[in-house]
Amino acid sequence: MSVIYNRVALIGLGLIASSMAHAMRRAGLAGEIVGTARSAATRDTAREIGFCDRVVDTAAEAVQGADLVVLAVPVGAMEAVGAEIGPCLQRDATVTDVGSVKRAVIDAVAPHLPDHTHFIPGHPLAGTEHSGPRAGFAELFDNRWCILVPNGAAHAATDRLSAFWQGLGANVDIMDADHHDLVLSVTSHTPHLIAYTMVGVADDLSRVTDSEVIKYSAAGFRDFTRIAASDPTMWRDVFLANKDATLEILGRFTEELFALQRAIRTGDGEVLHDYFTRTRAIRRGIIEAGQDTDAPDFGRSGKHD
Ligand code: NAP
Repeated sequence: MSVIYNRVALIGLGLIASSMAHAMRRAGLAGEIVGTARSAATRDTAREIGFCDRVVDTAAEAVQGADLVVLAVPVGAMEAVGAEIGPCLQRDATVTDVGSVKRAVIDAVAPHLPDHTHFIPGHPLAGTEHSGPRAGFAELFDNRWCILVPNGAAHAATDRLSAFWQGLGANVDIMDADHHDLVLSVTSHTPHLIAYTMVGVADDLSRVTDSEVIKYSAAGFRDFTRIAASDPTMWRDVFLANKDATLEILGRFTEELFALQRAIRTGDGEVLHDYFTRTRAIRRGIIEAGQDTDAPDFGRSGKHD
């Protein structure tokens, strides 16, 4: 693979940005990787690990001369970063982000970017419950999807960013922002909320002790606890920014839950069996599409660099 961007600026140096840096190095996609993060501690850790060629103190400094700028901060922090970098961007630079919500990021960032740049929001559907610069690993995006939202950007700029994500190991899909937010509400955001709730319920239930929950956690609950360990700031921002779609899906979820609750109360085994037969077919579809495994476990110890 050859160089696609001469200088890539990573704003935010957590799980996603550090994984991108490792994957860029693996494939030789960037002439130079420049990074920055909010705190001196994260910048120091990134320097120590060495996944960037240079780590600088501010976002305004990081984007100087960059032909690709990646915003890899929580969704609620995107606007301030956009405002800081807007005046410092080079002509024809592509600006993208990796935020889990797209409409809110477009509304927050686009007004700050000059016309001579290309803003192409993105979302890699890959992650772990770990965060920070030590959590990243080169294989995170392998065989995962990355959704790009061109939002009127030039085709050539979108094709170039698409080739870049493919070089990172991902498959690329193009979508509009509102559809992205609805799809992700179904496949990721609402399931996270349900996992948070279920773990909260177990925690509140005084008749079942904490040690029993830990000792007898079979696969279902154990998976919930892994999801519910995800970063609180990131997920707070996701729900605040994807409010409408989340509320719509939660409304539907509640209706279905009531229907199943009623079937259990009235002893209607047929309803339950039919329902579980339908859902089992969805699981088979996911397996056939090769999307049934988590990303490899390299980052789980938080020490992979
Ligand atoms: P992370 O590991 O927690 O890293 C976040 C980075 O953003 C850190 O460098 C942090 O700086 C910086 N940051 C936090 N708050 C900030 C603020 N108010 N202003 C400026 N910088 C700030 O997060 P991540 O998992 O890489 O997530 C980054 C983005 O990717 C989020 O928008 C998220 O929605 C999206 N995403 C995440 C996943 C996932 O599973 N984790 C998957 C797909 C997309 P300090 O370290 O200095 O505090």
